[in-house]
Amino acid sequence: MGFAELSATYERDHQPEWSGERARRARDALARAAPLVPDRDVRRLRARLAGPAFLLHAGDCAETFRDNTRRSVAKRVSLLNTMADAIGSRSGRPVVTVGRIAGQYAKPRSAPTEHRAGLTLPSYFGDAVNRAAFTADARTPDPWNLVRAREEAERTLSCLEGTGIYTSHEALLLDYEQPQTRRSAIEGRLYDHSAHLLWIGERTRSLTGPHIGLAAGIANPVAVKIGPAATPAVLTGLHAVLNPDNVPGRLTFIFRMGRHRAYDLVYAMLSRIVAEGWHDRVVCDPMHGNTVVSPAGVKTRVVTAVGDEVRAFFGACHDTGVTPGGIHLEISGDDVTECATTHVDDAHLAVNYRSACDPRLNPEQASHLAQLVGELLLPHQGFGPRREMAMSGC
Ligand code: PEP
Ligand code: MN
Repeated sequence: MGFAELSATYERDHQPEWSGERARRARDALARAAPLVPDRDVRRLRARLAGPAFLLHAGDCAETFRDNTRRSVAKRVSLLNTMADAIGSRSGRPVVTVGRIAGQYAKPRSAPTEHRAGLTLPSYFGDAVNRAAFTADARTPDPWNLVRAREEAERTLSCLEGTGIYTSHEALLLDYEQPQTRRSAIEGRLYDHSAHLLWIGERTRSLTGPHIGLAAGIANPVAVKIGPAATPAVLTGLHAVLNPDNVPGRLTFIFRMGRHRAYDLVYAMLSRIVAEGWHDRVVCDPMHGNTVVSPAGVKTRVVTAVGDEVRAFFGACHDTGVTPGGIHLEISGDDVTECATTHVDDAHLAVNYRSACDPRLNPEQASHLAQLVGELLLPHQGFGPRREMAMSGC
C-alpha cells in the first residue's frame, strides 16, 4: 500500500479540527521534506529490540519549541545516559535508550476544551497543534505548526548526533505521520521517517481506528500503551494486527495500570503472552496510572507511588517467568518540582513547575528510579520469556 492509499484508508480520530488549503500545504511540505531518520537506523533499533537489551524509554510528556535548545537537549541526553549507566551497571544487562524526544509535540487530551475563569478555549494539544498559553490566539490550532514541529525535530536530531540515543514520540497526528511515511527503496516496506520508534497511546489504540492502522502499515518498531481498562483479549487483537509473524523487536506493550492494580493486571497480561508464546516486549510505564491532583488543583505524581508500580511490574514478571523488557518514564533534565518525592505539598510544587502537560521526574528522582530498576533486574537471569517456569505453575 502506498501513501495515497494509506491516507485514503484512515478515518479521522482524535485529530485537530483543521482542513482546507493551509492543512493541505502543510502536508505537502512534510511529504517533500527530507526523512528525519534514515530507515537503516530504524532497522538498527529493531535489531536491538529483538535482542537482550533492556529498554530505557524516557523524556518529556510534551516537548516544547521554546525548550528546544542545544543546552536543554544536552541536559536531557546527559540524564538519559546517567540512567542507562545506573540500570546497566547494577543489572549487568545491556541497555538501549530511546528518548521521548525530537518530535514529542502532540498530546491527546481528555477534554477538547478547557475552562478558566469564565473563558472556554480549545485544550492545549501540543506545540505541533497550538500553544499552551491560555489565550484565544495561542489555542487556535494551526496546521503549519506541523511543519515547524518537523523543523524543530530536525534541530534536536542534530544535537543527538553521535549520542547513541534513538528517538520516539506518540504517533497521534495523522497529518504529521502519514506524509513522512515512505516506501524503502531497498526493502519495499513502508517506514515512518519521523522517528525510530512510534507508540500508540491508550486513548487511540482501538483495533479498528486509524492509529493502529498506521502502526500496522509501517516497518518501524511500534509500541502500544495498555491501561487498566484493557483485557488480555485486547492484547490478542493488537498482537494479531501489529505482529502477526511474531517477530522479536517489532512490538512492545507499555503497561500503565496504576500502582494498586498493577500486579494483578500485568500478571493477567503476561500470562496471556506466555501462554501464546509471543515474543513481544513488555515495558512498565509507572507514571500515567499514578497521576494525582494536589489540594490546589495541580497535576502531580508521588515518586514512592511510581516506585510501587515499578515493583509490582517486576513482581508480575518474576512470577510469570517473563523477562522485564523496559521502563517508560517522563523526565526533565532540569531541576523541576513537578513530582513529589514522598508527599504532595503545593508550596513545593510551585517552586519550579514548568511542564506543558504531565508532571516529570527531575534528575534526582529519575536517577533514583533508574537505580531501583537496576536492582530489581538483578534476579532476572536470562532473556526471553521463560515459559518452562510459567508452565510449571510458578
Ligand atoms: C503519554 O505518554 O504522555 C500519554 C498520554 O500516555 P497514555 O497514552 O498512556 O495516557
Ligand atoms: Mn504524559
